[in-house]
Amino acid sequence: MNARPHTAESLHASFVDGSATAAEICEASLARIAARDSELGAMLALDADRARARAAALDALPDRRLAGPLAGVPVAVKDNICTAGLATTAGSRALERFVPPYSATAVERLERAGAIVVGKTNCDEFAMGSSSEHSAFRPIRNPWDPKRTPGGSSGGSAAAVAAGFVPAALGSDTGGSVRQPAALCGCVGIRPTYGRVSRHGLIAFASSLDQIGTLSATVRDGAALLQAIAGPDSRDATAARVDVPEWTAAIDRSIPRCRVGFPRHLLDGGVDAEVAGAVDAAVSALAALGADVRECRLAHADVAVPVYYLVATAEASSNLARYDGVAYGHRTPREGGLREMYERSRAEGFGAEVKRRIMLGTYILSAGYYDAYYLRAQQARARIADDYRRLLEDVDLIVLPTSPTPAFRLGERLQDPVAMYLSDVFTVGASLAGLPALSLPCGATRGGLPIGLQLVGRPFDETALLRVADAYERSAGGWRYDPSGSGRRGRA
Ligand code: GLN
Repeated sequence: MNARPHTAESLHASFVDGSATAAEICEASLARIAARDSELGAMLALDADRARARAAALDALPDRRLAGPLAGVPVAVKDNICTAGLATTAGSRALERFVPPYSATAVERLERAGAIVVGKTNCDEFAMGSSSEHSAFRPIRNPWDPKRTPGGSSGGSAAAVAAGFVPAALGSDTGGSVRQPAALCGCVGIRPTYGRVSRHGLIAFASSLDQIGTLSATVRDGAALLQAIAGPDSRDATAARVDVPEWTAAIDRSIPRCRVGFPRHLLDGGVDAEVAGAVDAAVSALAALGADVRECRLAHADVAVPVYYLVATAEASSNLARYDGVAYGHRTPREGGLREMYERSRAEGFGAEVKRRIMLGTYILSAGYYDAYYLRAQQARARIADDYRRLLEDVDLIVLPTSPTPAFRLGERLQDPVAMYLSDVFTVGASLAGLPALSLPCGATRGGLPIGLQLVGRPFDETALLRVADAYERSAGGWRYDPSGSGRRGRA
């Protein structure tokens, strides 16, 4: 096998036509991880034995065509998504020794489709962060420039795809954690509509915002993964009973008649000039492909970050109350009374960012401050959702940057939480409104760092996002990482 990055589609095709065995594909993935992950830190637990056993079972099937739409495809899973029998830490010391007795619905469905989970990906602790530096275990490096962050919190999944360890991975997106790392690592990231994918088995951060999403090298691969994991689930009451369209079939070469809203005013303040230039050029390219592009305004965009951080921390403070060291999770080894045991277990188990958020969230929900902060944030959230809803009556989708800057240097925003939080300025809006959103590569800086373009669509209309993104990707040629080392970047 050559070293060029493969897509899930091409790997599955070579498994089906017999030009590669699942075992060979799986070994190639494990070999790439072994060769480079000590540098990048994208992976946590590896599941090599089970992956090999699953590959052997697939190879033993009498008819490979019946093995499922993702048969033979190696995938990685963010470490806040439960995998039966395989450590799931959420990047936290609090869950360092937690081995879930069950798999998340999304993982179960991926495996049913024939995918092979090779391991878990490193992430910010409890998915709280935008740089993956809040992992309790190790920071992650960006494969494009190891001095820089891959973004976060699904930075391990994005780095694993960008470095060619796996063609696709699962991540989770609460306020941008799939889209922002996808942008910074030059891959495709999909946050589905809230309710499109079951959250059963996803370790909760902020339940009204959390969604499992996909990271992949191509739009088609993202569609294939989403196809496998989407749909109702009796184990998650918020998993919507909405039919799942045939996305892989819906993608074609032309942009269907499509109206695109472009809030160009958002590019005016605080956006890196090269990012703004690339997004502008991408919007022109969409117009050249036949999209009807209209300028529009997102009126409350400036309050989205504070509103998100109020809602998300409030929900996190409640969700993380369960890590008390009793039923599971880190328990202090030091002697003491019950109260000391709780205090020490939590003080030792959580890192600084998680503690900051629990304190902020508890404060916001406390009597006397609830109305001033939490309630007002909920009202502002409704306004933001309303802005999107009204805009999306006139256009099929909205296009904006994914991240205001390309990948920043490790350490650069670590001492300044507000600067870190502002990384999410363009992603939190779709999260608060529960809308599907996708990030895909739209070029690179002169220094060779990827730039992401974000598309936001109507509820449950992932189809429009995928079709437009696929058409753009074909015309622009995408922007891929080439781990062979012969030129670090190239048009796909
Ligand atoms: N960066 C955002 C935060 O820190 C989003 C995280 C996420 O989507 N999980 O909360």
